[in-house]
Amino acid sequence: MQQYQTKEQRMKFYKSKEWRKLRQDILDRDNHECQECKRQGYVKVTDDDKHKSLDVDHIKELEDYPELSLDPDNLETKCVKCHNSKHGRYLKGYNRKPNKWEHDEKW
Ligand SMILES: [Zn+2]
Repeated sequence: MQQYQTKEQRMKFYKSKEWRKLRQDILDRDNHECQECKRQGYVKVTDDDKHKSLDVDHIKELEDYPELSLDPDNLETKCVKCHNSKHGRYLKGYNRKPNKWEHDEKW
C-alpha cells in the first residue's frame, strides 16, 4: 500500500495523472460547488474568484487513509476557505491576525 506520510509523497500523489483526472471528475460531479458551503447554504458559483479557488479535499486524510486516496466517496469539492478551516492546524498563528475577508462577506 502506498503511504503518504511525507510531504514529498503527497506532492507526488497530487501531481499524478490519476489524481488530476479524478480531481476533475469530482469537480464536475459536485458542479464546481463547495460542498461545505452548500451544506451551510452559501453557494455562489458565479463568483469567479471562488470558482478558481475550489479544491478537492480528502474527507479522510490522505496520510491516515492512503487506501481511500482515489475513492470518489472520500473526495469532495471545497473552496479554499472551507478547506483551510478544516486544516486549521496548518494556519496556526495566522488566525490571530485580522482576516481581510472577514468583513467583506457574510459566511
Ligand atoms: Zn466553502
